Amino acid sequence: MIKTGQTVKKGGGKGFLQVVKKQRARLAGSIAFAVLGQGAGLVPFFMIASVITLLAARPLGAIPSGELYLPLIYGAVGLVLKHVCMAVSSGLSHVAAYDVLYDLRLAISRKLLRLPLGYFNKRTSGQLKKVMSEDVEQMEIFLAHNLPDCLGAVMYMLLAAVALFAVDWRMALATTAFVPLGFVFIMVTMGRGKEKTAQWFTLAEKLSHAIIEYIQGMQVIKAFGHTTTSFLKFSETLEQGNLLENETSRCWYLPMAVFAVFLTLNMLCIVPLGAVLLGQNEISLGTYVFFILMGIGFGSPMWVLVQFGRGMVSNRESQVRIDAILEAPDLRETGERRAAGWDVAAQGVVFSYGNNGGKALDGVDCAIPEHSFVALVGPSGAGKTTLARLLPRFWDVSGGSIRLGDTDIRDIKLDDLMAQYGFIFQNVYLYNDTVLANLRIGNPRATDEEIKSAARAACCHEFIMELPQGYDSVIGERGSRISGGERQRLSIARALLKNAPILILDEATAFIDPENEVLLQQSINRLVANKTLVAIAHRLSSIVAADQILVLDQGRVVARGTHKELLAESHLYKSMWDAHMAAQAWTLEGDAC
Ligand code: ADP
Repeated sequence: MIKTGQTVKKGGGKGFLQVVKKQRARLAGSIAFAVLGQGAGLVPFFMIASVITLLAARPLGAIPSGELYLPLIYGAVGLVLKHVCMAVSSGLSHVAAYDVLYDLRLAISRKLLRLPLGYFNKRTSGQLKKVMSEDVEQMEIFLAHNLPDCLGAVMYMLLAAVALFAVDWRMALATTAFVPLGFVFIMVTMGRGKEKTAQWFTLAEKLSHAIIEYIQGMQVIKAFGHTTTSFLKFSETLEQGNLLENETSRCWYLPMAVFAVFLTLNMLCIVPLGAVLLGQNEISLGTYVFFILMGIGFGSPMWVLVQFGRGMVSNRESQVRIDAILEAPDLRETGERRAAGWDVAAQGVVFSYGNNGGKALDGVDCAIPEHSFVALVGPSGAGKTTLARLLPRFWDVSGGSIRLGDTDIRDIKLDDLMAQYGFIFQNVYLYNDTVLANLRIGNPRATDEEIKSAARAACCHEFIMELPQGYDSVIGERGSRISGGERQRLSIARALLKNAPILILDEATAFIDPENEVLLQQSINRLVANKTLVAIAHRLSSIVAADQILVLDQGRVVARGTHKELLAESHLYKSMWDAHMAAQAWTLEGDAC
């Protein structure tokens, strides 16, 4: 079930902590049980020592069975208690960790919806995918394993140290002295590993992007072989990853091997010192055996601490990346107003994509009255698509303003603003789902009948019915199992279902074959009836009937008017029209051949 009403506040490194805080009760419970379990785990050692002391003091027959078996029973109970506590601890930490993963992924996906499109411009899909899958997954290892294990281990060592010193301070010193030395050694040597881990995280993002690009570009790779850039990029990144992984493991494993030696050094002191003290009757045989047993295992929890240290380094890297998304500034939602009226106007609009590419728009003014048909024309790179994207606030303008029905679009609630716009882009995005589900995105409340009637209006019904399962057919990733023209018509059906009053059309028919074009044009005509239409035109013949044509060049509107007016007044438009007519004639001549 989807949980709602969750908010992730912004501010200094708190995005991740806000989500984790919700699980603090479970995490605290898990730590408490881990500590209890580790404490219970000490009981068997004491009980073994007391049995050995008993056996050393009296012959077996002289010991009452109660005195002999009771410590064994306590030891067994301690052992069982340890495992029960550890199981409860692990259960609680896993439930908490998986809830954190769920909440984090939900928070990130909601956040992505609130970010301006410029955010995605600066990041690759591989980077974002890595954060949402691997970096979030890293939290499971940290919260469910590293954290409770570490605190349990610390408590075990503290309790064990107290018990050891309570029994005999000299033997206790011999048992524990090398462990802090080993710890200091590993902490000092961990520095380089930390640096390498950070490098590995950055490389892993690159690798994630390279994998996506490699798979998506498979067709090109097959056609052009291994020389294509995506294959080279992929194999180079793999190689770098391999090198870095080797270096990272060298940074960690060598110090860890030395550390393991430190942990066993205490036996060099326990055994001779214990023998001397036993010979002098300063300690009993039971105490001697007790210290040997404790000495063997005393350092082992240090491994857990070292793993925790490594987990902390990776966790920190992941957390920084998660927080970078959760705390990125939202597309400013300043307004609560609702759209009133559908006249669209741009005033002195300046826009830059912000990657030193200069101004994509530089002082654009235009007025698009309700129910009018406005076409944007101009050479490639003139700023047509940018202007069309700014009208529904995909990006915020860098200067000037855009108004809808006399209200600055930044003052209109985003959901309400989006509800006013329908879009037909050249690159239609379809999900790897059924036809029905893809169409329903246009209007989630539409009945199956309404969806089918929109499909008929968009000239889709016939080809859908020819698919193996009709409307229930899955159309593949990005709609790969249907043709480009069919994808376009599905997107028109989707827009028909949305029935928004303003339509932005990036001339959908530009790259479509003639047979599909007729069908597509029919469906577009049905879609645009009684709507305000803003069309980016690639073929000028399709916009001769426009109420207003804006001619853009280098981010400015250099001419405006009807087709006839522009032919007379705009040199740029006239030359574009002549070029278009020449291309048409060329096509006709070509056809005649
Ligand atoms: P048109 O639609 O007229 O071909 P665009 O609006 O796509 O022109 O582009 C206007 C300018 O903005 C061009 O210089 C283009 O390189 C740049 N541009 C377009 N999209 C992006 C983007 N996502 N990131 C950076 N620059 C972009």
